[in-house]
Amino acid sequence: MGNFKYITNRTLFNDAGEKKGNIAVLVRKDSDDADVKYRCPECGFSEQTKKPWKKPFSVKCEKCGLLIRLSKLKDDIKREKNREKKKARE
Ligand SMILES: [Zn+2]
Repeated sequence: MGNFKYITNRTLFNDAGEKKGNIAVLVRKDSDDADVKYRCPECGFSEQTKKPWKKPFSVKCEKCGLLIRLSKLKDDIKREKNREKKKARE
């Protein structure tokens, strides 16, 4: 963790369930702002920005307005497992 109190890097899925985007969030120990870098899974727009840090964290795509939520990692893993189960059944 070093100088950060929060750090994450996630893959983002579009509506069709494809891995099309990602988001990275960094919060420095001495800061209440999050450094955010994302690529929108819906429109492909990417930017680097700063937002006040709060939980649950979300950022809006500057181009298409998609609300990108930072879900709990546990939920992500659950979703991924469900997807694999579905695939296995198909
Ligand atoms: Zn977008």
